Amino acid sequence: MNASLQQTPAAEPSAIVGRLAPSPTGAQHIGNARTYLLAWLSVRSRAGRIVLRIEDLDSPRVKAWAVEQAMEDLRWLGLDWDEGPDIGGPNASYIQSERLNLYHEALERLRAVNVIYPCTCSRSDVLAAASAPHAGQEGPLYPGTCVARSAGDALALGSRPFSWRIRSTNQEHCVEDRFIGETRMNVAAELGDFVVAKADGTPAYQLAVVCDDHAMGVTEVLRGDDLLPSAFRQLELYKLFGWKQPQFAHVPLVVGPDGRRLAKRHGDTRISTLRKQGVRAESLIGLLALSCGLRETAKPITARELLADFDLAKLPPDPFTYLDELG
Ligand code: GLU
Ligand code: ZN
Repeated sequence: MNASLQQTPAAEPSAIVGRLAPSPTGAQHIGNARTYLLAWLSVRSRAGRIVLRIEDLDSPRVKAWAVEQAMEDLRWLGLDWDEGPDIGGPNASYIQSERLNLYHEALERLRAVNVIYPCTCSRSDVLAAASAPHAGQEGPLYPGTCVARSAGDALALGSRPFSWRIRSTNQEHCVEDRFIGETRMNVAAELGDFVVAKADGTPAYQLAVVCDDHAMGVTEVLRGDDLLPSAFRQLELYKLFGWKQPQFAHVPLVVGPDGRRLAKRHGDTRISTLRKQGVRAESLIGLLALSCGLRETAKPITARELLADFDLAKLPPDPFTYLDELG
């Protein structure tokens, strides 16, 4: 190859890489659909690439049928991806339960520099660590019971079960969120030391998501704003590993008439149910487009048709209240 060509990197369509990261712990609902639509539009409107990753580490809660169903939901919505469990890609596997070695190596790196310690407390945040802490799931601050231990103390614990907790730093981090703007948080003071691996060896969501977003070259993480505190936890990990953080964008959630995050108590808002009822994807996308300030009416439309004039800044800052318009 000629030298000047070698110096010019191959023309890439776009350096932006986003991801869709469903957890197959249940069906995907209208709230998930809205966030996936925004994540997809944000990246595709700038000619970026999309990775589909299945976040199935919470093994007791994972449902076998939910992986295929989530992919069907996304296809039905008209959202596509360039890498994923069904089509493969350079960063396979796209299923977290098949990437455990990566997380264990990362944990080993943290252990070697003594920034994690064995925690023998049996607390709810330990139990829940394999899933992302969504709205209402941010428990009380960890009181620091085991913080005096060093990583090396794990040996002396013998057969006593322990999780690994990270010693968070007492400094304020800044997230330049694409939607929310500049926000700051001190992880040690406001969130506390968090779990990076459970006693049974399961890596925590916080660790897995950082390892994967880094390894898969993800440059933009768009997700529900209930995960904003987790962005600061993840920043702690990015800093420790010396990895470049992605651009975060945290968007308002879909809530029910009671103002709480859309869930089972609000009736059946599963995407799969709408599909079975014969609702057209265009009708749902139309309603979501209206809710996102992208269109002035809920007229049926495809996701692709929203690309040309997509602008995240049009999204209203308040949660969208779903009143069963499609049910
Ligand atoms: N799999 C996570 C969830 O659905 C996604 C978390 C994230 O986007 O970082 O809760
Ligand atoms: Zn403890």
